[in-house]
Amino acid sequence: MGDDQTRNTISETDTLNLPILIIGGGISGITSAVELAEAGQEVVLIEKENYLGGNVSHFNNYFPKLCPPSCGLEINYQRIRSNPRISYYTGASLKNICGTDGDFMVNIQLKPRLINNSCTSCGKCAEVCPEERPAKLGRTAGEKAAFINNGLAFPMKYCIDPEVCKREACARCLEVCDYNAIQLDASPAEVGIQAGKIIVATGWNLYNATLIENYRYSEESDVVTNVEFERMLAACTREKIKLTRPSDGLTPRRIAFVQCAGSRDINHLPYCSAVCCSASLKHALTLEAEYPEIDAEIFYIDMRLSGRNEKLLKQAEEKERITLTKGKVGRILPGDEEKGLVLEVEDISSGCKRKDTYDMVVLAMGLTPTPVAAGLKVNEYGFYLPDQPSGMIPTASCKRPMDVSSSVKDATASALKAMQR
Ligand SMILES: Cc1cc2nc3c(=O)[nH]c(=O)nc-3n(C[C@H](O)[C@H](O)[C@H](O)COP(=O)(O)OP(=O)(O)OC[C@H]3O[C@@H](n4cnc5c(N)ncnc54)[C@H](O)[C@@H]3O)c2cc1C
Repeated sequence: MGDDQTRNTISETDTLNLPILIIGGGISGITSAVELAEAGQEVVLIEKENYLGGNVSHFNNYFPKLCPPSCGLEINYQRIRSNPRISYYTGASLKNICGTDGDFMVNIQLKPRLINNSCTSCGKCAEVCPEERPAKLGRTAGEKAAFINNGLAFPMKYCIDPEVCKREACARCLEVCDYNAIQLDASPAEVGIQAGKIIVATGWNLYNATLIENYRYSEESDVVTNVEFERMLAACTREKIKLTRPSDGLTPRRIAFVQCAGSRDINHLPYCSAVCCSASLKHALTLEAEYPEIDAEIFYIDMRLSGRNEKLLKQAEEKERITLTKGKVGRILPGDEEKGLVLEVEDISSGCKRKDTYDMVVLAMGLTPTPVAAGLKVNEYGFYLPDQPSGMIPTASCKRPMDVSSSVKDATASALKAMQR
């Protein structure tokens, strides 16, 4: 962050009235935004994706109560809609931050949505759109270039993927849209935002599963990450279809969950990623409740759960079709004649080495930080330190992996901190 020489000096009263900028529109950023706005503060929220909601908006359900993501997100979307103190930008990437505490100038680049605010989300553009987005992280196969975020969209408006759309060479959406909402010639725009404080709520990234070579992860295989699995379950719930494995479209009968994939491992991430044990228990309990034909086995070093999440373990222990095995998975190998996946495990309870075959494997991956702005102080693993000298306030899971409930509490605390000028 350098000083911006070109700006006029503004008085202290003016800086107190400057909005608070929040970078990241996941559950934490949204929470800080609504708390600040309801306390009378002007807020600008920027999100790099086309929709707010972050990772939670892609969940199938969430612990501790295993409720759908709409529970929690919808009420917050309503709070945003009804509060004129919140402005938000989606598809917004940070270009640069200048200035200092109390008086920042932030430039953001807005990618074109190719559909404007007149969209009524009727969906006719997607019906006629001939282009498909490539399958990606739980993205439903066949999703069109004109798309909307999986039913929990905020804003509730379609957008068009500019990397896939053929624009004027196709233009079928233009012919069917009754609201003049299609803008195929829209180009990127730049916006400058003056802000008194900046809350950084950029969340987490997933560790790169291909780096754990002995687990044989690849995008085509039946070894998937827990984030992919979460989104597969969400797509099944949404579209009322059965869970199938990627390689052949058959229903898996036995699914193994491999804990600490990348976490608590000196070759990868030495720290605990905090939410993966609860996430795998949630997945196993969801299978138990909704897929009577599937057995789940969780391989763990030790179960790390906090607060109300403890009860997930108790629930899982009572289920016949869930097995909990204490033991680190050493290797995942292809089964005989390439059928299934063989796990080599050191079973701590029996003291024996086991080899067993599964139809699918879910890797409970480690979580990593999200790099945002140069100049922010980080800990030895790259997560932001809570106290920054710069007047920027990191919040929630960009400081360390944490669950939704802790993220929301932390984001509320950050809102309070930002108001104390
Ligand atoms: C597999 C899995 C399952 C989980 N299940 C549960 C569960 O059931 N219950 C639970 O309590 N917790 C669960 N968690 C944890 C949960 O995901 C986090 O607590 C939650 O996502 C934290 O929200 P957040 O807003 O801090 O971060 P995120 O959800 O990561 O949101 C951050 C947002 O910031 C945006 N962003 C990032 N960088 C920028 C930038 N430079 N500019 C603009 N925007 C940016 C991102 O696009 C994103 O929208 C799970 C985690 C995993 C991995």
